Amino acid sequence: MSKRGFTTTILHSDRARPVEHGAFHKPVHNSAAFGFADARDLVRVFQGEQPGFVYGRQGTPTSVALEEKITQMEQGFQTIVCGSGMAAISTTLFALLRGGDHFVSSAHLFGNTTSLFETFADLGIAVSFVDTTEAAHVEAALRPETRLVFVETIANPCTQVADLAGIGELCRQRGIIYMVDNTVTSPCLFRPRDVGASLVVNSLTKYIGGHGNAMGGAVTDTGLFDWSRYPNISELYRKGGPKTWGAAQIRKKGLRDAGPTLSPETSHHLAVGSETLALRMNRICANAQALAELLEAHPKVAKVHYPGLAAHPQHARAQSLFSGNSGILSFELADGVDCFEVLGKLEIVISSTNLGDNRTLAILVAPTIYFELGPARRAELGIAESLVRVSVGIEDTEDLLADFRQALGG
Ligand code: PLP
Repeated sequence: MSKRGFTTTILHSDRARPVEHGAFHKPVHNSAAFGFADARDLVRVFQGEQPGFVYGRQGTPTSVALEEKITQMEQGFQTIVCGSGMAAISTTLFALLRGGDHFVSSAHLFGNTTSLFETFADLGIAVSFVDTTEAAHVEAALRPETRLVFVETIANPCTQVADLAGIGELCRQRGIIYMVDNTVTSPCLFRPRDVGASLVVNSLTKYIGGHGNAMGGAVTDTGLFDWSRYPNISELYRKGGPKTWGAAQIRKKGLRDAGPTLSPETSHHLAVGSETLALRMNRICANAQALAELLEAHPKVAKVHYPGLAAHPQHARAQSLFSGNSGILSFELADGVDCFEVLGKLEIVISSTNLGDNRTLAILVAPTIYFELGPARRAELGIAESLVRVSVGIEDTEDLLADFRQALGG
């Protein structure tokens, strides 16, 4: 990012290059294909000798403008956007891993990511799930064929904070790809590049888009990983400096071949949403802290998971790594309190599975997003049957607190 602040940079990002007719936003270029007056230019673009666009599955001027914004936010080298956060994760692993490889993942993950990694295991790419709050657990799981370590910054839904710096150092020493899902913190609160991440994933559906009106995902190559040491890069993409090789393979073998393309309209919605990320995050963090404190003191609440609380096991780590504790918190209701009754009484807060929306959303975790795991696995992961995840929004703080007070009752 330039020396300018986060919001200034993102607001003026499109104008860093001339925009057609002086438009403030990069226009929505709704074209599946792009034509050339000289057929030689089409060949040159195909062969990567000239910049340009040939076919919308691999990118459009609108999606590339969004990619540039995300790259600036993450202070990275290159970004590839996809149709969802899951598409960004699956496309990247699909492009970079081979049968017989192994990777290490946090055991505390968004449920669909866990499910995806189990599918990779079925395809012959082994995965070890470990507690990543200590780098030593990751180190103990490494094998000669380990290619990658995957962690979330603040885990969804129980908010464990991974030993992000310790794992970064370990991956650096061993020459292993370090892939960090930054969705819950967003590049506004944390830049994984600062702890040595090679690749950063963001679900753009969440805080970056912010308005719950568009789905997307991004993977950013931070430029720190030495791709010349990576055995799985095809000869086709070993062209020019090694810095470009990883992103080239993700774009070609992943985005081009698997096709999880982000449409131009959606790219535009997400780019507009991203302009106010820092403003929204400030309010979200303040609201979440106030709500966490209210819940912690409430007799009907048995436990609150939020890194902003002094009682959180990784509170000190979160304060040293992040510029805010984000808006995801979860709480367990006391024995005998009817979860459905409490959720049913909430008037402002919406029962919904999403997170990172401007509106506050709540969901009972065990029978929904962790349903497929079954009770034994949930217990192993510390997911209480009464656990409610809240994604705190930007409502006026007093309105939000009042809604929880009335729903929980005396
Ligand atoms: N990563 C995290 C941490 C998430 O919470 C989610 C979705 O909730 C995703 C990735 C997937 O994002 P998307 O829903 O855009 O596919």
